[in-house]
Amino acid sequence: MTNIQDEAKAILSEIIEWRRHIHANPELGLETPETEAYIVQALEGMGFPSTSIRKGIGGHGVAALLEGDEPGPVLAIRADCDALPIKEETGLPFAATNGCMHACAHDVHTAMALGAAQLLMKHRHELKGSVKFIFQPAEENVVGAKAMIDDGVLENPKVDALIGLHSGLLWKGYAAGEIGYSHGGMMASADRFLITLKGKGGHGATPHLTVDPIVMAGHLICRLQTILSREVNPVDPGVLTIGRVTGGSAYNIIPGECVLEGTVRVLDVETRKMMEERIRELAESTAASMRGEAVVEYIPGPPPVINDSAMTDKLLATVAEVLGEEKAKEIPEPSMGAEDVAYFLERVPGTFFFHAGSNPEKGQTYPHHNSKFDIDEDTLWIGSALFAHFALNWQK
Ligand SMILES: [Zn+2]
Ligand SMILES: [Zn+2]
Repeated sequence: MTNIQDEAKAILSEIIEWRRHIHANPELGLETPETEAYIVQALEGMGFPSTSIRKGIGGHGVAALLEGDEPGPVLAIRADCDALPIKEETGLPFAATNGCMHACAHDVHTAMALGAAQLLMKHRHELKGSVKFIFQPAEENVVGAKAMIDDGVLENPKVDALIGLHSGLLWKGYAAGEIGYSHGGMMASADRFLITLKGKGGHGATPHLTVDPIVMAGHLICRLQTILSREVNPVDPGVLTIGRVTGGSAYNIIPGECVLEGTVRVLDVETRKMMEERIRELAESTAASMRGEAVVEYIPGPPPVINDSAMTDKLLATVAEVLGEEKAKEIPEPSMGAEDVAYFLERVPGTFFFHAGSNPEKGQTYPHHNSKFDIDEDTLWIGSALFAHFALNWQK
């Protein structure tokens, strides 16, 4: 019987080396050519023929295919690989110096997926079906997954299931190295809306001769909050935040228009549809009732991250065998943040899980997107071992 745990620990120094190289050379958004080249070089170094690697997917995305001896379904292992425009302040010897930083552990995700590729390359004769390793740029601005999907990353061969993880400081009360899972809604959708309230401008002293969009905005802001508090089931989580209100030029002038801009985060697809409909209806009816007009733009972002229950059960079986079942913890609450892995999970069943990588006992108490964010490298083998074990066993 294969002991993936020991094998993953044995390649920890390589996983760390990949992580450090990527960490020291962060790139942003879709512009990740150096990271792409480095990933391709690492894959070729472990024996992936260049014909099995497709690069330049949706920009600089990479996919590598490992075919088993026996035919079967295709499992995708997805890792994101972009960084953030943050000046690093960790003081690590391999800290980035170009003004950008891997402050969201995407360096770690990529290194873990490379580790899994190395482990599975050795075990490819035991694989039923294939594994497609997907290295995705532009997660932070949530356009990378979509760009890769539009460029066919889920086709040729068609991907049947997908797994991925996020490392960091992820839920309260964990111990470093534990795994957080969910059988359903894991992270929220993130949509944006812009409402332009149109009235008729005029003198602040003669409101009766104007149609005041500022007063419209006041009513609408309160009404929009009632969608979640009065119309959505209180146990169904949701957020509606208006982060920007723009209107007016002087204290004594009623402007012609006022713009509200905000975000909607929910965990349920039906609630998401309903939120858009109700925002439109309330904006239009509020404006009309006050003799004005509303123009609503609703700009969809990533859908909610919804895990497939059967795939999550398979993950739990994997965690039990690789780490011991006590290491799997159901996340106490979903995150209202977004992750564009959701675009993959909208198309293929899969499970996205959390790896508790920041170790408070080692002083790693900084949240994601903080200039001092860091991960305990001693836990990196866990991601590689889980990915590899899952790929070898998920069809059993
Ligand atoms: Zn992030
Ligand atoms: Zn992230």
